[in-house]
This record gives sequence, structure tokens and C-alpha cells, in this order.
Amino acid sequence: MADDFDLNALTRPLGADFLREVEDARRAAEQAPPPPPSTIPMPDFRPGCIARFRCPLECGWHHDESTDPGPMGPLLLPANFTADDLSAAMSSQAEVRGNNFRLRVELAISEHFDAAHPGR
Ligand SMILES: [Zn+2]
Repeated sequence: MADDFDLNALTRPLGADFLREVEDARRAAEQAPPPPPSTIPMPDFRPGCIARFRCPLECGWHHDESTDPGPMGPLLLPANFTADDLSAAMSSQAEVRGNNFRLRVELAISEHFDAAHPGR
């Protein structure tokens, strides 16, 4: 990874177009919605960036999941990266976050079914 580090990339002048593309990519990654539900019921969106997933069998159980993705993690970029590389890295991170969101909800629902509705 250290071999990918390019000091020149940090000191080269950045044009307004590049900065605008970076900002657009950052905004798009931040606003990426959770992935469409698979076996997940549609949530109710609650105040405080909470998605509430209710038991499909309407037993009263629910699982709350934050929809706030929080700050982005470090991005892995090649030396002399371009705006497209940055956009792709941010999109990839947003996709991973979306998949993790879905997996957490699916796991919570699966565990609830095992505990409260075995065999269903
Ligand atoms: Zn239930």
C-alpha cells in the first residue's frame, strides 16, 4: 500500500473542475440510499435517522437501524489518481456500507424469527 503513495499527487494544483467532481462524488456517496429490500420489509423512517423494521408477522417486535452512514473511512487510491478513481472508491465504500446495512437488518430479522417464530 505504501508503494501506491504518491507525494506529487498531494502537491499538484487542483483545478476547480476536479474539486467540483470530488464534492459531487462525496455528496452522491453520502446520499446513497440503503439498498432495496430483499426479504426485508419496508421500514418506517423515524426521527433521528432511524429506519424501523417491523416483524412481518406483526407480533410487535421491531429492529431499529441508523440510516446515518457517519463519516467516510479512508479511501484506497492509486498513485496519480483521477477524479474517476476517487468517485469509484467512494461509490465502492457506499456500496459496502449499503450491503452491511442490509446484512445487519437481515440478521436481526432472522434471529427474531428463530427466537419468536421458529419454523416460519
Ligand atoms: Zn415477530
